[in-house]
Amino acid sequence: MTLIGHLIGGERRNDATRTQEVFNPATGRAEKQVALAAKSTVEEAIAAAQAAFPAWRDTPPIKRTRIMFRFKELLEQNAERICQLIGEEHGKIVHDAAGELQRGIENVEYACGAPQLLKGEHSRSVGPGIDSWSEFQPLGVVAGITPFNFPVMVPLWMFPMAIVCGNCFVLKPSERDPGATLFIAELLHEAGLPPGVLNLVNGDKEAVDTLLHDPRVQAVSFVGSTPIAEYIYATAAANGKRCQALGGAKNHAILMPDADLDNAVNSLLGAAFGSSGERCMALSVVVAVGDAVADALVARLREAMRGLKLGIHHERGNDFGPLITRQHKDRVVGHIDSAERQGAQVVVDGRGVRTPGCEEGFFVGATLLDRVSPEMDSYRAEIFGPVLQVIRVSSLEEAMALIDAHEYGNGTCIYTRDGEAARYFSDRIQVGMVGINVPLPVPVAYHSFGGWKRSLFGDLHAYGPDGVRFYTRRKTITQRWPSASLRESAEFSMPTLK
Ligand code: NAD
Repeated sequence: MTLIGHLIGGERRNDATRTQEVFNPATGRAEKQVALAAKSTVEEAIAAAQAAFPAWRDTPPIKRTRIMFRFKELLEQNAERICQLIGEEHGKIVHDAAGELQRGIENVEYACGAPQLLKGEHSRSVGPGIDSWSEFQPLGVVAGITPFNFPVMVPLWMFPMAIVCGNCFVLKPSERDPGATLFIAELLHEAGLPPGVLNLVNGDKEAVDTLLHDPRVQAVSFVGSTPIAEYIYATAAANGKRCQALGGAKNHAILMPDADLDNAVNSLLGAAFGSSGERCMALSVVVAVGDAVADALVARLREAMRGLKLGIHHERGNDFGPLITRQHKDRVVGHIDSAERQGAQVVVDGRGVRTPGCEEGFFVGATLLDRVSPEMDSYRAEIFGPVLQVIRVSSLEEAMALIDAHEYGNGTCIYTRDGEAARYFSDRIQVGMVGINVPLPVPVAYHSFGGWKRSLFGDLHAYGPDGVRFYTRRKTITQRWPSASLRESAEFSMPTLK
């Protein structure tokens, strides 16, 4: 059985004192194993990054960037293999994996602008003969801890930017689907990255805790569930580290009575059930304003959901695949059960779905729940499965109050033809990423990604301009070259411009 190990100092390492099975979620079989790094292995990775830092920090940004340009080409040339690895371990259908990869590549493209992004700020003559500038210096060794649901894209949010900014990186991917992440880390070495600049350790809490407590690690980027994000943020901060920790979500769409219903139904299908709902930006709740639009929506969705196809990753005709593990499948089914018990109407039931050829896979079919109410456990939790819940309200204000009251604030969307309502909504809603007739408003690589409330702990969002700020620290230099005409006598009051 293949053992997925680590990559330290540019070399493959298999420290396999502890291992965990990696499943193909479509077949339900454990087909690989992943090594779970011991504390000492993680410390070796940190030491390799620390050793590589002085030379990498002094490498001109344009040279660092040339490696990223080659990396982008290699990602494109190896797209098929990457999507296959994602499919085998995550279950994502090949067209969806290709979308994930493309979104990741766009972050590499943005990182290729490092010489421009790192130019800094300059002011001439802030005083007589005095110039001042700010430059953005790397932090040193930084770490990234990533979730299972985007094994390629989320790591690509982090390490390309950190590295072009002059840092050295230790990445700890999800232990549930680590194969594609290790593969792309190797491609970056093939592109010419010096050993030690990017290290990858596979593992679990032991590896994460080592990264959080080691004083050589200056900053931690995390993406995953909210309870772990909160723990990572608190522990990193207590250990004096900079941290951005992105957490879970419950993304609502508001459906206004004037919305283009055909467009809303089509886009909701993809946004709710694509990737089996295992996206932090998945739309999992529709708040319908008025019973008339709610009834029309439920009727159309019921019809449209009949045609959805689920199955194995390599069949392009499939719309979505299985859930990541058997335990997660049981959790999702448990949420549907509880919603039904608490009074929701199960309009389309994905429990017990049949997937010929993949009977043992972790599949749940697309599920539609109507007449959900805010007290229900299924409404409060992030289900992270192919389950769409409909809540009925009577006004836009009521819909917005519902969204604002939820603990998460990652993404949201309004379907309407009314520009005034859309502007009112985007202006006031307490959510970090807003779509107007756009169901998955995932910011492009040259903006930044992040939610509000308990969807993000920290100040800076991921990637884009905030990524540059996160992976650098500002140094401001004020300079004067004394000359005879500018020589000053001793001054004991706070210097000001006279
Ligand atoms: P997770 O929190 O279980 O795991 C994320 C990472 O944390 C993994 O690398 C894992 O090994 C590590 N980890 C897990 N338990 C830990 C512990 N007790 N101590 C230390 N480290 C631990 O998340 P997941 O199930 O892999 O991913 C799904 C979650 O990620 C969902 O909640 C989803 O919304 C969220 N997510 C958020 C975003 C975002 O941008 N906000 C993006 C993708 C996924």
